[in-house]
Amino acid sequence: MMRAVLVRQFGGIDQMKVATDVTIPTLGDKQVLIKVLYSGVNPVDTYLRSGQYSKLPNLPYVPGKDAAGIVHSTGSLVSKVKPGDRVFACQTGQMGSLAEYVAVNEENAFPLDDKLSFEQGAAIGIPYFTAYRALFQKAKAKSGDRVLIHGASGAVGLAAVQIAKANGMHVTGTAGTQEGLDLVRTAGADAVYNHKEKAYLKKLQNEELFDVILEMLANVNLGNDLKLMKRHGRTIVVGSRGTVTVDPRELMGNESSVTGVALLTASPDEWSEIAAAIVDGIMAGWVKPIVDKVYSMEEAGQAHHDIIHSKGAKGKLIVKIQD
Ligand code: NAP
Repeated sequence: MMRAVLVRQFGGIDQMKVATDVTIPTLGDKQVLIKVLYSGVNPVDTYLRSGQYSKLPNLPYVPGKDAAGIVHSTGSLVSKVKPGDRVFACQTGQMGSLAEYVAVNEENAFPLDDKLSFEQGAAIGIPYFTAYRALFQKAKAKSGDRVLIHGASGAVGLAAVQIAKANGMHVTGTAGTQEGLDLVRTAGADAVYNHKEKAYLKKLQNEELFDVILEMLANVNLGNDLKLMKRHGRTIVVGSRGTVTVDPRELMGNESSVTGVALLTASPDEWSEIAAAIVDGIMAGWVKPIVDKVYSMEEAGQAHHDIIHSKGAKGKLIVKIQD
């Protein structure tokens, strides 16, 4: 038996309860059982818990899609990792990473070099994989491109800043607080703007326009993004929490485009490409996850609250599971 945060009904954060009698997952032949030390919190965890997502888990379930820890055991057909290895994992299943043990498919467990702490390891998965997919698989970004990361102070945004800079792009990032702006600058952005300031769009429009925009809050910004793109510019919608009115004419003269990204729909080949790039980035030193706050398992509900009602993102929220 193990400790895990269980959700027995969809609803508010009060539905998240630590249980001590959850069965340790049994391993499939191609699966890896990880002793979880830290679990990463993502906005999608809150959409799932509240029952507002297209594909919901069966109840009861354990939230959490990202983890870092040590391989406990492996299925008979696993060859990439072995017991005792440091790993991070992304896309854990129905019995997720807010638990002392999680079983993941081999293709979702990756070596965690000791350059990075386990806390940082739990901050890699969804944010870095999404940022990479948005930049390369969707926007086809390349060295020299001018990239706007609209919402750069959060987990995906900071990952995108690091990835874009490591690949030779010129990066402009936005944040809503001074601390966020400082962090985005430290992560490597060439220019920063405060998206809570009234005049920031005017200032942005005075800059040279952008080849690529990664948009974290499309329901607020998409209309303006269309005005900020160069000829053949690409805006990638990473996050959106509502509807918006835009003028499609803005896309015509520049032959610019808007595309959505959904990490969890990546094909196996695309997934392998992303994973290989991020693991290379860890070794090369440009994957440097920034952890804002660490919560206990009992505080996992608070972490869910905080990620949605943030007063200013400063990187990643994670939950400590065990020593
Ligand atoms: P996060 O850590 O909570 O970060 C949220 C970011 O949005 C912060 O940088 C925040 O900046 C920024 N923001 C707030 N108000 C904004 C505004 N008016 N304009 C521009 N940016 C604004 O969340 P995350 O993990 O980075 O995820 C970001 C979004 O992407 C979420 O909506 C999430 O659901 C989505 N997402 C989608 C996928 C996918 O596959 N499509 C995958 C992962 C995440 P301040 O706090 O500094 O104001």
